[in-house]
Amino acid sequence: MNACPENVIYLMDDYLDGDISPSDEQLFKEHLENCPDCRKQYQELSKTIAFVQSASHIQAPSDFVQKTMGRLPKERQRAGVQRWFR
Ligand SMILES: [Zn+2]
Repeated sequence: MNACPENVIYLMDDYLDGDISPSDEQLFKEHLENCPDCRKQYQELSKTIAFVQSASHIQAPSDFVQKTMGRLPKERQRAGVQRWFR
């Protein structure tokens, strides 16, 4: 099993923020092509973000964020989901 380069995590962040350079985007997408784990993580993450963003409009239950955080990978928990609330 190949270890994923840690910068892919950050590229994923940047990509989801829509703040990624074209060369990094290329790198990130190439890694997704070759890495089912990261692809899965990316899909989970984009679903979670979409859900968090839609839920933030309707007053999510207070434990919602905790539960959502608990389902995220460790790296993601460290980064926090707070900045997706806007
Ligand atoms: Zn990977």
